[in-house]
Amino acid sequence: MAQIINGKEVSASVKAAVAAETAQLREEKGLKVGLAVVIVGDNPASRVYVNNKKKACEEVGFQSFEYALDENTTEEQLRDLVDVLNRDSRVNGILVQLPLPKHINETAIINAISPEKDVDAFHPSNVGKIMIGEYSFLPCTPAGVMELIASTGVEIAGKSCVVIGRSNIVGKPMAMLLLHKSGTVTICHSKTQNLKEICLGADILVAAVGKPNFVTGDMVKEGAVVLDVGINRLENGKLCGDVEFESAEKKASYITPVPGGVGPMTISMLMKNTLTAAKQQAGLI
Ligand code: NAD
Repeated sequence: MAQIINGKEVSASVKAAVAAETAQLREEKGLKVGLAVVIVGDNPASRVYVNNKKKACEEVGFQSFEYALDENTTEEQLRDLVDVLNRDSRVNGILVQLPLPKHINETAIINAISPEKDVDAFHPSNVGKIMIGEYSFLPCTPAGVMELIASTGVEIAGKSCVVIGRSNIVGKPMAMLLLHKSGTVTICHSKTQNLKEICLGADILVAAVGKPNFVTGDMVKEGAVVLDVGINRLENGKLCGDVEFESAEKKASYITPVPGGVGPMTISMLMKNTLTAAKQQAGLI
């Protein structure tokens, strides 16, 4: 039976470290840390995410600046706001909550954010830095997964790592981070053949597919570390991951639950990135 990786606990310890350093910077250098969160329209899921981010800012001692814009905001208006935030010295990090309404080009908005304030690490300049291993911001969800693996004490170097999913925000950067830690990485996606066989070779298995219970116990190698990024809402309203927990738990050595696994890590890594941004902008690192 696997040990459960407690994402809430690891996330709390990351936030506690960020809070302690934030307090120290304020006392010793008079430095305040600020995050701007921009939301366009009234997508209920986005609202929940934005509220959670504001709450996390309070917990760690950041100032948060919320910009809730009308659904009909034009791309130009949003770009103007991003320009203002790029120049606002109180704002160290800018987060534009995705998805944006269809009439706004997300790529154009992401590219308009100053890379120094791009705490989601979605700007092409930050994505490129991740590729060459010279990054200051890590994309929050994959970085959270890396913290969870570290919490188990399992060494990544030399291990067979399989990532299911190749999205720009999860799968691809996840594979890069595992590669930087010298894992032997395979990326699987919707066109992959023999997925089960490939998964069965994985010492570390990351599922980021977006399909409930997609990875079943018979796809998990005995003793593997299983990280479930998926957040799927079932018809009965319950949340469920991409991994069928009951069967996978019997095979894995460590496994993340959903909820309470990878999910809580994403916000704490966002806080960590914002602190890094503030220190960089103050010339402290
Ligand atoms: P996405 O839809 O952009 O990507 C899904 C990936 O799965 C694609 O690359 C696709 O090739 C692959 N895929 C689809 N069908 C497949 C199949 N049959 N076999 C193998 N691969 C297949 O999704 P995403 O944005 O990467 O998110 C993935 C999941 O993670 C979603 O459930 C999402 O809600 C969740 N998520 C969680 C967090 C978090 O904070 N925990 C953050 C981001 C995303």
